Amino acid sequence: MKLDSHHIDALSSLTDSKGIIREEDKVSYLTEWRKRWPGESPLLLAPGTTEEVAHIVRYCHQHGIGITPQGGNTGLVGGQMPHGEILISLKRLRQVRDVSPLNNAMTLEAGVTLSEAQSAAKEVERLFPLSIGAEGTCQIGGVISTNAGGVNVIRYGNTRDLVLGLEAVMPNGEIWHGLKALRKDNTGYDLKHLLIGAEGTLGIVTAATLKLFPQPREMVTAFAALPTAHAAVDLMALMQDRTGGLATSFELMSQQLVNLVSTQFENLKSPLETQAPWYALMEFSAGTASGLRGVIEDVLSGAFEKDLLLDATIAENETQSGQLWQLRHNAAPAMASDPASAVKCDISVPIHRIPVFLEMADEIVKAHTGHGRIIAFGHMGDGNIHYDVLGPEGADQSVFEAGRPALQRAIHDVVANLDGSISAEHGIGVLKREELKIRKSPTEMTMMQAIKQALDPKGIMNPGKLL
Ligand SMILES: Cc1cc2nc3c(=O)[nH]c(=O)nc-3n(C[C@H](O)[C@H](O)[C@H](O)COP(=O)(O)OP(=O)(O)OC[C@H]3O[C@@H](n4cnc5c(N)ncnc54)[C@H](O)[C@@H]3O)c2cc1C
Repeated sequence: MKLDSHHIDALSSLTDSKGIIREEDKVSYLTEWRKRWPGESPLLLAPGTTEEVAHIVRYCHQHGIGITPQGGNTGLVGGQMPHGEILISLKRLRQVRDVSPLNNAMTLEAGVTLSEAQSAAKEVERLFPLSIGAEGTCQIGGVISTNAGGVNVIRYGNTRDLVLGLEAVMPNGEIWHGLKALRKDNTGYDLKHLLIGAEGTLGIVTAATLKLFPQPREMVTAFAALPTAHAAVDLMALMQDRTGGLATSFELMSQQLVNLVSTQFENLKSPLETQAPWYALMEFSAGTASGLRGVIEDVLSGAFEKDLLLDATIAENETQSGQLWQLRHNAAPAMASDPASAVKCDISVPIHRIPVFLEMADEIVKAHTGHGRIIAFGHMGDGNIHYDVLGPEGADQSVFEAGRPALQRAIHDVVANLDGSISAEHGIGVLKREELKIRKSPTEMTMMQAIKQALDPKGIMNPGKLL
């Protein structure tokens, strides 16, 4: 919508001068990570307090003005990009309000970055376990609104499992004070779960109370070359069984991904000489220094005897562990730097069905593209695979581009047949909005629309996203 100057002046007066984003700074807010959905907005605001956010939202509610909330702008489905709405950046809500090691909880404002949240926990010798590749930039409000996953979900759960309470500005401008630090609160509907994963369509998260955990005393990082994806599933089950569930991460990477990362980043290489179709990056942790490394060595040897792995190495120290993780964390940047990067599927299926998914999806890619290049990797411990397809090398990319929707749809059909999800962790945004309507049942769509209508009857919160 075109916003007249009267509204622009009125909205600008609801925050201080630091809260009005200058013309020359706008481009970084209106360009998203993959440069796919250029944003457009008549006014970009960065209010400095929850109250300022509330005043702005109340004004928008009264005048039917659309709002797009934005955190660190690392979302991968276009949810944070305005298309005519005003943009509200939460970057100035930066306070760590409270950290309580005794209650294992901390309360932070929405604009604190994920890595700052991890540091706040570390300062009191606690762990905030959420960890994703974008953690230096993404913000607490953003990770909550996308229910971010990441590399430690197998042990600690998604963001949804880590939130105790929320403070949010609702679409009518009222502040919801829901910052409870309780593990038990059985008083009817658990309202925080409506806002978690809502992608800014039901209100603006301004602060959150998050769970903390004891810091592990021993950590072991291992890297293994695997003969098949079936072997990866069996290896993970074996490792979990023998360690009593001490895995914090189990990341699967195809040979194509490892090669791509090594090509894009010269200093990043597989630590193993052995070439294999699949690699697993595994991390285990224990609360006491308990000889975990010896256990992992034994289990890996046993797995070798059973032909579940071809080769493996264990990091000797934190530096080596960090190098192994660099290989994994640079998967998304390596993919982003390939200009032909095309079909991107962020899917989940039950863990034991991952090999079947990969086989069926590979067949589909072959049938649709001939020699389309498949790059598969992901958080295997959560059944989450990032299955990306690049156009055949040297082929006419416009032909590949034209077939992209049909290919994506066919891969998602496989996911649906395996009782999976077409969005494991990145959300719906604008990217998967049309497909959501096909994949959710009419009952589910009606329930979601009813919630949206009840909380945001004027449809001002992040219009054109998710629903
Ligand atoms: C290199 C890289 C690696 C990544 N790895 C992972 C991964 O492992 N797991 C994973 O889950 N995701 C991953 N992501 C995706 C992304 O980082 C997450 O979705 C993250 O949670 C987004 O946070 P943000 O602060 O950047 O939010 P933004 O991108 O700014 O916004 C995302 C959505 O949340 C809404 N929003 C933002 N802040 C608020 C708020 N305060 N209140 C209400 N709505 C709000 C926006 O409107 C938008 O719909 C990765 C992205 C990159 C670039």
